[in-house]
Amino acid sequence: MGTIDGLPPLRDVIRTHELVAKKQLGQNFLLDLNLTAKIARLAGDLSACDVLEVGPGPGGLTRGLLAEGARRVVVVEKDPRCLPALEEIARTYPGRLQVLQGDALELDLAAHLTGPVRIVSNLPYNVGTELLIRWLSPAVWPPFWSSLTLMFQREVAERIVAKPKGDHYGRLALLAQWRADAKIVMHLPPEAFTPAPKVHSAVVHLTRLEAPRYPADAAVLSRVTAMAFNQRRKMLRSSLKGLGGDVESLLEGVGILPTARAEEIGLEHFCALARAVAERSA
Ligand code: SAM
Repeated sequence: MGTIDGLPPLRDVIRTHELVAKKQLGQNFLLDLNLTAKIARLAGDLSACDVLEVGPGPGGLTRGLLAEGARRVVVVEKDPRCLPALEEIARTYPGRLQVLQGDALELDLAAHLTGPVRIVSNLPYNVGTELLIRWLSPAVWPPFWSSLTLMFQREVAERIVAKPKGDHYGRLALLAQWRADAKIVMHLPPEAFTPAPKVHSAVVHLTRLEAPRYPADAAVLSRVTAMAFNQRRKMLRSSLKGLGGDVESLLEGVGILPTARAEEIGLEHFCALARAVAERSA
């Protein structure tokens, strides 16, 4: 049976280039090109977009993105063993695939992209959360990307979309939902990957908001939520003592019960609290 693009099946690509998966690089590959094309479709219309993919590996998702009509795809891969396979894809789609070799945490990726930009990646587990936090915390908002379609371990995906009072609710949910609409759009069992990881995975789609959902200073909001969730089982009047001054009045002033715990407080109230903290020290 032919593939979606006439290139060899991914199993053959892996065998030809001897791409034995390296655990330390988070290498769990997707080999089903129908599945990677489906993930590409979940990202929305790509025909007028540059797509950034971090960690293309042997190129399964890259091929899905190109076959689904992405205007241009820029990939950044840390493992040099993958480059020949990626160059083969680039030759099949002339002018549409740029391959960068290096660490996504160290390169200035935005410099290689022309907007609008969508980021679509099956992220390496070891750097996935850090990349997401960076993409959600640029110095200036709106950021260089308009949407993120990212594969994570299911537990991380649940932390991104979590609501107050749930076990997964915390700083990541607040950061993501402050500046984006976030939803889980696909669940994948371990067997979808080669080699199969120990955990389930999920794809999260985040669409940026043009302005944060509620006003607040990013640094103050981050400080307040860090303090609150570092001691998530404690009452806020105690966990937020480090803010100094009369914490109880501060909380009451924005409609938060001083005896409430961080996990009970929604985004709107955390933003109000961050504004009150900023006003107090202005
Ligand atoms: N996209 C491919 C797929 O879906 O089959 C591979 C995904 S695999 C989970 C993660 C990929 O990220 C691996 O190819 C790995 O070598 C690469 N990688 C790991 N750390 C990286 C980093 N810091 N920067 C860029 N790529 C990295």
